[in-house]
Amino acid sequence: MNIRALSILLISILPAAAQNAGVQQAAESELPSLLSIYKDIHAHPELSGHEEKTAALVAKELRAAGCEVTENFGKYEQPNLKCYGVIGIMKNGAGPTVLVRTDMDALPVEEDTGLPYASKVTTKADDGREVHVMHACGHDAHMSAFIGTARALQRLKDQWSGTIMFVAQPAEEAVGGARALLKAGLYNRFGKPDFALGFHDKSDLQTGHIGVTEGYTYANVDSVNITVRGIGGHGAYPHRTKDPIVLSAEIINALQTIASRENNPLEPVVVTVGSIHGGTKHNIISDEVKMQLTVRTYKSEVRDRVLAAIDRITKGCATAAGIPPDRAPIVEVLKNEFTPATYNNPDLTKRLVAVWKKAIGSENVEMVPPTMGGEDFSEYSLPDHSIPAVDFHIGAVDPEKIAQFKKDGKELPSLHSSKFAPVPEPTIRVGIIGMTSAVLDLMKK
Ligand SMILES: [Zn+2]
Ligand SMILES: [Zn+2]
Repeated sequence: MNIRALSILLISILPAAAQNAGVQQAAESELPSLLSIYKDIHAHPELSGHEEKTAALVAKELRAAGCEVTENFGKYEQPNLKCYGVIGIMKNGAGPTVLVRTDMDALPVEEDTGLPYASKVTTKADDGREVHVMHACGHDAHMSAFIGTARALQRLKDQWSGTIMFVAQPAEEAVGGARALLKAGLYNRFGKPDFALGFHDKSDLQTGHIGVTEGYTYANVDSVNITVRGIGGHGAYPHRTKDPIVLSAEIINALQTIASRENNPLEPVVVTVGSIHGGTKHNIISDEVKMQLTVRTYKSEVRDRVLAAIDRITKGCATAAGIPPDRAPIVEVLKNEFTPATYNNPDLTKRLVAVWKKAIGSENVEMVPPTMGGEDFSEYSLPDHSIPAVDFHIGAVDPEKIAQFKKDGKELPSLHSSKFAPVPEPTIRVGIIGMTSAVLDLMKK
């Protein structure tokens, strides 16, 4: 019996099995061409906010897959920065609207994978430095699976109805890409979706597997700048100064008591001082110290409390050190750099887990713990989470490699590492199957 006859038979007796067979078949037949797209994108990465050629390629492929495509969509906070968002609308009668998202940007990392298609690209970063560029976060695999999903859903149009909104987002790494699309009226222009779906490769999940977290999966990310102001002078006469370096040391330690003493231990909080700069010379007490913090939380009430505590502790330490009120520290929460926590709608997660278990087998679907990383996919579900959304993980690493690293007691190269090298074919395959089967279930006739 040929495959066509087999699928006709399956459609008549086993609709779910036939649907799975259709998805697998579509993925399989698209893989060779997607693999060459993958290698092309991998070898030609572009930094956040500069995804011009990548976006053009994605737009061309979405058009070829039957989407109505809008290019250069989006509006950044910085008015002179062009936004390379690509929106592909695939319409198929009445029904729900489902948003499917990929990201497009690469990172300033010098690739060290030794792969034949490794990136050799260098470019000038926004700060003027010459940097190497690499798809070290696997967004190239996301785009390939995203294009594959569009092609598969075009083929399987007899199995779904409604509107699919394919969103290829720039500037995920730099934060601001998703917001730029929403700010430009993504939902006003193309309709508010009923569901939003995204995926990300995972550097410790084996190929062929899908991983997902129910509820919070990524954290609120806040960036905070602190300027500690003192009264500078000679290093030999501290009694005539107010030393901002000693004060900063106290502030840093005191900030750690937010997580350890002020917070309910069952609510995750991270306060990291990632940068501190002050002073110029051994024997000078400086006028000020500048610090940069990253702050991670899940719930918004916890976030509000932690940010307020940072302000209170910093200013309180300064008062205790005798800093006059007019030299009080300046604590600045960078509102434009905020990324909200990603919340996987529990009902939708449960529904998709059941779909994936059928599509790839129960043993290949894993519930994975949340992390304090950040991901602006969260923006698509809106601040009130009124659009049910799920961002799931796709396996990217050879299981034998995982076993070997474990045996040797070594850490696998993480996302953003110069050595991160997903195995393209199975990563893209599980991405297509995971995303296509999820969309089909949400839009089935
Ligand atoms: Zn990343
Ligand atoms: Zn990423």
